[in-house]
Amino acid sequence: MDVIVSLCKRRGFVFQSSEIYGGTGSCWDYGPLGVELRNNIKRVWWRDFVHQRDDMVGLDASILMHANVWKASGHVDHFTDPMVDCRECKHRFRADQIDEMDWTHYCPATKGNKFTMKAGGPCPHCGARRTLCPSCGKGELTAPRQFNLMFKTFMGPVEEDASVTYLRPETAQGIFVNFDNVLQATRRKLPFGVAQIGKAFRNEITPGNFIFRSREFEQMEIEFFVNPHDRLEDRPADEVWHDRWIADCQAWFTRYGLAAEHVKLHEHGRDELAHYSKRTVDLLYKFPMGWSELMGIANRTDFDLKQHAKFSGKSLTWFDEERKEHVVPFVIEPSAGVDRALLAFLLDAYQEEEVRGDKRVVLRFHPELAPIKIAVLPLLKKRSEIVAAGHDLRHRLTRRWLTLYDDTAAIGRLYRRQDEVGTPYCVTVDVKTVGDPEKGETGDGKVTIRERDTMQQIRVPIAELEHVFGRLLDAGTPWSEVAAGYPRAEG
Ligand code: ATP
Repeated sequence: MDVIVSLCKRRGFVFQSSEIYGGTGSCWDYGPLGVELRNNIKRVWWRDFVHQRDDMVGLDASILMHANVWKASGHVDHFTDPMVDCRECKHRFRADQIDEMDWTHYCPATKGNKFTMKAGGPCPHCGARRTLCPSCGKGELTAPRQFNLMFKTFMGPVEEDASVTYLRPETAQGIFVNFDNVLQATRRKLPFGVAQIGKAFRNEITPGNFIFRSREFEQMEIEFFVNPHDRLEDRPADEVWHDRWIADCQAWFTRYGLAAEHVKLHEHGRDELAHYSKRTVDLLYKFPMGWSELMGIANRTDFDLKQHAKFSGKSLTWFDEERKEHVVPFVIEPSAGVDRALLAFLLDAYQEEEVRGDKRVVLRFHPELAPIKIAVLPLLKKRSEIVAAGHDLRHRLTRRWLTLYDDTAAIGRLYRRQDEVGTPYCVTVDVKTVGDPEKGETGDGKVTIRERDTMQQIRVPIAELEHVFGRLLDAGTPWSEVAAGYPRAEG
């Protein structure tokens, strides 16, 4: 993780929020490359799950909502984590996560030597298990008390109870309260889903692990409404749709780069299930700190719509023309965090390898996610025709694919820089491209394309670049197939 954190800062993916004031450990800012990567993740998710499906529409609800939304949803009463404090060092912990942390131990069997013990395990010398603060190893812990994770704020100029509201802790409720609006506006029939991407805020007791757990983050959520009386494949329709969404979400993450062996499903046991859930399955990713939740896919039943109907007094049902009855749909909710997805894609893309005795760092991003798609690099900066041709190419290509021009170092170093940020293709303009009028040589109008992963190079006429990149970046044609049509260039 440290390697990724440092790369993210150095190359402008992620910065600590308010760093010049000492930073906040709980919020993060996305730099020039981070914002592109983030936007690409959101764009591809929206395209695949909203635009390319017949049964989905989108929504963008406000962050501040009526305070009763959070009473109806159960967040005011139940959105809490158990918190304990160390009486000695004042460190705060989530009581339910404390046994998953490595712990500090002053071992009586070794004259009080200090050790760091593995989470959950006993001391191999004295056999003791952790009872004190895992951080300082000395302080007693307080009894757990429930802490509400919602950020409270006031609507309007007067800070009084009547104007209390909350920054939304999830985007889902914005979809539930708009259920009828969307239904009326779109005349949809069940099953259909509503997707939303937006910020959410949680006053986490222990934010950490870089962007994995922060206090301000972004979610990509879907509420997929199903008629609970329908049957599919001889089973209740909500159960079948739940399985389909689990499979679709898992396939989406592996399609865009996560290795299949780094992703697994976790079925919530009875004791883990939220009060509204019939079944919840988490998609876990093998993060450096261990298998942790990347996203959750829950069957929330009709809980939310019924709660909002009860608290608002408005009917939130769908009329089933065939059965001539009003039904409250069941809801399947795939809920993913943009920041966790971004971290997982970064971690899985990162590779170090040796090339001709040198270390090469490469981010093997899926081309759709790569922040920069093409880098145009001039081989000789002092030749003005080469530089001009490079700028011209950048302008042309960037209309369709984000393209960068860089002439601030020698070509080898420029390639390494692009490898390190995951740019799939570099285009090099050289003397042969533009020719040399002094020697009476005309240019061949061709440039070299270098592919990031294989480092192979091919020579392509400038006039064909749009066609070639259209195949590579839009149609997803494999490099080997495209490269086979052009002569290889020297590496
Ligand atoms: P956790 O158990 O890790 O706290 P959760 O089960 O509370 O997560 P959900 O309420 O299911 O999370 O939220 C859906 C998704 O939103 C999560 O799978 C995660 O990707 C993202 N998410 C939730 N909390 C945070 C956070 N504090 N920082 C970043 N992403 C988050």
